[in-house]
Amino acid sequence: MGVCFFYINFEGGFKLDNVIVAKFGGSSLADSKQFLKVKDIIKSNSNRKYIIPSAPGKVHKGDHKITDLLYMCYQLASHRLNIDDVYNIIEKRFLDICSDLQLELDIQESLDHIKEKIQMGSSKDYAASRGEYLNAIILSNFLDFNFVDSKDVIVFDDKGEFDSKATEIKMKEKLKNIDGAVIPGFYGAKSNGEIVTFGRGGSDITGSIVASSLDCKLYENWTDVSGFLMADPTIVDTPRPIEVITYKELRELSYMGAPVLHEESLFPVKNKGIAINIKNTNAPEHAGTKIVNDKYPIENTESITGIAGKKDFTVIAIEKTRMISEKDFLRKLITVLETNNISIQHMPSSIDSISLIISASQLNSKLDKVIEEIKIYCNPDSIIAYPNMALIAVVGRGMIRTKGISSRIFTALSQSGINIRMITQGSSELNIIIGVENIDFDKSIASIYKAFEK
Ligand code: ASP
Repeated sequence: MGVCFFYINFEGGFKLDNVIVAKFGGSSLADSKQFLKVKDIIKSNSNRKYIIPSAPGKVHKGDHKITDLLYMCYQLASHRLNIDDVYNIIEKRFLDICSDLQLELDIQESLDHIKEKIQMGSSKDYAASRGEYLNAIILSNFLDFNFVDSKDVIVFDDKGEFDSKATEIKMKEKLKNIDGAVIPGFYGAKSNGEIVTFGRGGSDITGSIVASSLDCKLYENWTDVSGFLMADPTIVDTPRPIEVITYKELRELSYMGAPVLHEESLFPVKNKGIAINIKNTNAPEHAGTKIVNDKYPIENTESITGIAGKKDFTVIAIEKTRMISEKDFLRKLITVLETNNISIQHMPSSIDSISLIISASQLNSKLDKVIEEIKIYCNPDSIIAYPNMALIAVVGRGMIRTKGISSRIFTALSQSGINIRMITQGSSELNIIIGVENIDFDKSIASIYKAFEK
């Protein structure tokens, strides 16, 4: 294996020019057929140097994820129950992959060792992490890449918190002479060698950390969908994938419930301005979704980036003549919510009125109490609570430049006979938030999407 091409950049740090970190999720590595696809993808671009695998996921619907089975083994062992039945399934999955791929790799010894450790009472994190560990050993053998154990490059401090500085130093040191490595996702270790995992789905975080620690050019996240969709496919029939999205837009959409990457997995690469490309292992020819820096040039797009929303909000509408001139009005209002441990989602206002939009699950049984307290502290002319409201965020970086986007949204809603109960726009002009009744939620999303259909 050759020597890696680090060079010193102007700040005196290391920079890996053109190098791609590619993370493959559990469905991408569920069986030998998927391994073959992954190999083709990696070998088709020699810049794909650092590969982060998850543990094998489900092959078909009724199947089990290896990580779930490992957690089960841990549970059984912790109750001193026999783990043979569950562990046999794990063993078979790994042994089948090795034999199908005709690897000259003896994984049995590692399997036996892990089983023994779990039976003897290993930690939960150790047990859970072994799916990624074994998968990375197999994949590195199959690709003829180096295997680098995450316990040697992903550092957690003594309290079990991830240590980014120590990780960056270790990672650069370890990988500087390695051209092509497979590094298991999901875990790292404390200085005493104790294994610590990130939360579920944590291999995304590992990929992001490797890309940012090495200042790579791109972080590819390979999964089983061709990127993020513009709208929820259970509401809109085959929505288009989003081609490009900025970190800020993504945040707005995920805040409104769109299933996107976990915040923690975005941070490391976002801070370094490294782009992420979500790609589909089963359709690698699709461009997928690119998540880019917020400074990405705003094209003259006629369209929006995505639509997301959530149901079940309560609106508390408060009216008081000249509330604006009452200097402590807002402070008193917020104090009531703070003392009841309630956070506000949005707060549209006009000269004599203000609405508090609060998730119904936060209010629970506190609504009457909160209303009473607002009456006492703020003395409003009127206060009314409207339950069963939904919020829809229409997000698009092009909005700031393009005329007519909001008119298209509102025309679409009025043509569908939807009563809009509230509108707010963020000051960044990145999104418009629309409040409608819960029963109009699906219809609203579908009609807005239709208005921007190409
Ligand atoms: N295998 C772990 C899980 O199932 C981590 C991951 O796949 O990202 O949560």
